[in-house]
Amino acid sequence: MAGRIPEEVIEKIRIQNDILDVIGQYVHLKKTGRNYFGLCPFHSEKSPSFAVQPDKQLFRCYGCGESGNVISFIMKVEALEFPEAVRVLGERAGIELPREEVTHENREVQQKKEFMLEAHDKVTKLYRHILLQTEYGASARNYLLNRRMQIATIEEFDLGFSPDRWDYVTRFLEKRHYPLPLMVEGGFSAVKKVEEFLTNSAAASCFLFMIRKEEWSHSEPGRWVMNSRNI
Ligand SMILES: [Zn+2]
Repeated sequence: MAGRIPEEVIEKIRIQNDILDVIGQYVHLKKTGRNYFGLCPFHSEKSPSFAVQPDKQLFRCYGCGESGNVISFIMKVEALEFPEAVRVLGERAGIELPREEVTHENREVQQKKEFMLEAHDKVTKLYRHILLQTEYGASARNYLLNRRMQIATIEEFDLGFSPDRWDYVTRFLEKRHYPLPLMVEGGFSAVKKVEEFLTNSAAASCFLFMIRKEEWSHSEPGRWVMNSRNI
């Protein structure tokens, strides 16, 4: 994403990685006049048409037309995205990328993730509490205990019981100031799906098995995978 790495840091990295040194590690270069020539690493050729211009810190191939600076060279030759290429060159020059600025966006995602996991924990505990400690969960609790399920097993697998109220989770989260749009964005759309399921279910009371996904990333939101079974 543009702007993640501050421009001045990119510029510093570019300047401190001399294009001749960097390309020289990939291409055998020979000086001709002010420029250096070698066999192009981007197309097959027998006579050198790949030129490096140290004064401009640019390269250009007169055969295939590839051109650019030291960063675009590394991107092409190593098949890297821009931030990765900058990072590689940064390491090469001993320039540490400022973590906070680079990961500003990631930090927001991280905060959201923590918020989501916290909400998830609360809802998990809520359902378990309902199953184990309340009148609402009595029939479900008895159902499990009669089948010799141990309390420890219920706790270990975060087994819970959803009350017969489709908006229960929504209200629960709202009351605790979890903004629902954020919950949905972070993967809590599953809440809605489950609520829809409960709404449409003939018997709304369900067991819920919550499988927590530890890797809750922005691109691939964690989901609550819930199997339900009517009592
Ligand atoms: Zn070329």
